[in-house]
Amino acid sequence: MIAIIGAGISGLTLAYRLQQQGTPYILLESSAMPGGYLQTEVQKNSVLEKAANSILADQLVLDFIQELGLSQEVVEANAISKKRYVYKNGKYRALPSGPLSLLFGSFFSFRQRVNIFKEYFNTTPYRKDYTLYDLVNERFGKEIADYALDPFVSGVYAGNPKELLADLCFPVLGKNMNTYGSILKGFIKNPPKRRVSLTFERGLQTLIQTLASKVNNKRYDSAVKSIQPINGKWNLVVNYQQATENISCDQVVFALPAYEAATIIRSYSEAWATRFEAIEYPMVRNMHLIYKKEQFGLEPKGFGALHPRVEPLYTAGVIWNSSTFNDRTPKDEILLTCMVTEKRTPEVTTMSDQEAEAAILKEIKHLYRIKGEPLFSQTRLWKKGIPQYTVKMTTILNHCEELEKMNVYICSNWPYGISITDCIHRAHDLAAKFKA
Ligand SMILES: Cc1cc2nc3c(=O)[nH]c(=O)nc-3n(C[C@H](O)[C@H](O)[C@H](O)COP(=O)(O)OP(=O)(O)OC[C@H]3O[C@@H](n4cnc5c(N)ncnc54)[C@H](O)[C@@H]3O)c2cc1C
Repeated sequence: MIAIIGAGISGLTLAYRLQQQGTPYILLESSAMPGGYLQTEVQKNSVLEKAANSILADQLVLDFIQELGLSQEVVEANAISKKRYVYKNGKYRALPSGPLSLLFGSFFSFRQRVNIFKEYFNTTPYRKDYTLYDLVNERFGKEIADYALDPFVSGVYAGNPKELLADLCFPVLGKNMNTYGSILKGFIKNPPKRRVSLTFERGLQTLIQTLASKVNNKRYDSAVKSIQPINGKWNLVVNYQQATENISCDQVVFALPAYEAATIIRSYSEAWATRFEAIEYPMVRNMHLIYKKEQFGLEPKGFGALHPRVEPLYTAGVIWNSSTFNDRTPKDEILLTCMVTEKRTPEVTTMSDQEAEAAILKEIKHLYRIKGEPLFSQTRLWKKGIPQYTVKMTTILNHCEELEKMNVYICSNWPYGISITDCIHRAHDLAAKFKA
């Protein structure tokens, strides 16, 4: 039997696939509810996501959604959401949306645009230890690194591109350089496959609830405390309803954050606990704001706006939920999700909730020329937000085989990719491995 620890999207997807292929499993979740970072709340006719907002789905994920019978509930992003804005020199400017607007538009300086063109002929070899910032700066120039890469990395990883490894975050860059000499040439010869940005009518929790309803062998309120090998099997010590019980299994899957995996494995291996707890999870604060449309001087129309760290702002970016997806809030209202990250704004870690919320409100009011107060506001603080794909993640990847030989597996948003799509892929791959 396989014990899956954690019922977020990763653990649930794995449990569902194992059940389908007839592989015995048990899914253990410490909370009273499944979902982890996928939590939706419907408040005052608005659909509010506490962490993840949308899925950038590839074909495997679209097929999975269809298989779960959820295609009718999918809400695809509106066409206008192709427009993304970046704050530059005191105002929002549309990011170039294609090669023509990139080369002939005015977002980047003439010199920068020439640099982009030159990358096509650059044959400097790829290095696996490139940080994202160094690679992009070296190949394309500082403007691209500061105004395209940096805000994008803040939005996806809540991280700093000077710390994140290109090889782990966007392996396609190295692949293009190794195969074609140039990143640009690689994208021209092998354009990225189509992906669809989507959510569901009642938010991302639809996916969680559907999966949970189909997975039979699950237990909530069951926090795994430690694992120990006994007679060739793993013994799990589980806290359930204020009692402690033991569960015996053949394989253990960590489908939970690295720092939780560290506490569980410590009783067995200090070395693995140290590797796991070295993964950094910087703080992220989300704030939902709802206003009447008429309060806006500058109405948000697009996916959202990102705020590069070279610009003197407090927030890392704002998702324009009601413009991206229909029916997130009544038609005469606007729903925004503002994000503040420790990596961009370190002072967020020492500010009280009231101070942080006041700083966000002040900035948003100014940026969007808003009159009056929001109809609704709600904050969610993730003290440990998103795992950082730094060199410490490489250590785990390099030793994964050793872990798997001990019948311990990782199936979560580390170390195989951070997005919901990555998590679904990893769960599928692992299920296939258990079948073989
Ligand atoms: C603010 C924020 C915004 C994001 N936005 C997006 C987005 O828009 N799109 C996107 O694709 N991705 C986004 N992500 C990333 C994505 O949401 C996560 O990577 C993904 O949901 C992780 O799923 P998981 O199942 O691997 O882990 P988790 O969601 O962390 O689930 C782990 C589960 O394990 C349980 N658990 C913990 N300890 C124990 C224990 N001892 N015993 C048993 N159970 C335990 C937890 O309660 C939890 O339910 C975002 C993340 C954050 C933080």
